[in-house]
Amino acid sequence: MKARYDCSKCPGYCCSYDRIEVSEFDIARLAKHFGLDVDTARERFTWRYKTKDHDERVLRHKQDHVFKSTCRFFDQDERRCTIYAARPNVCRRYPTGPTCGYYDFLVFEREQQGDDEFIPSA
Ligand code: SF4
Ligand code: SF4
Repeated sequence: MKARYDCSKCPGYCCSYDRIEVSEFDIARLAKHFGLDVDTARERFTWRYKTKDHDERVLRHKQDHVFKSTCRFFDQDERRCTIYAARPNVCRRYPTGPTCGYYDFLVFEREQQGDDEFIPSA
């Protein structure tokens, strides 16, 4: 099905999600990509998000000038993933259908503002 969104026109909202979950398989792929052992990759690239209801490993973030923060692997000038071939499964699956809710919102707001570069606060 043809995608009805264009990531090249988006500042990368999905890469600013606080909790981008990674599996042990994802961590092993990151380790291989960077030539690291799995324990080092787990420690360097992820942290444990643990509450009463959740216990998961998520990607570390870094501060950003558009959103509060983004995934540490996001190029904040080019607004794209720097590890595309080694990105986690959750990033491969998103968005799950032919549309992206944030992209629709972005297009709507840019039309309203008459500004192709406008970035609404999410
Ligand atoms: S939020 Fe949607 S349009 Fe933007 S980068 Fe992610 S998938 Fe692409
Ligand atoms: S790994 Fe790449 S696609 Fe996934 S959140 Fe980070 S920058 Fe975005």
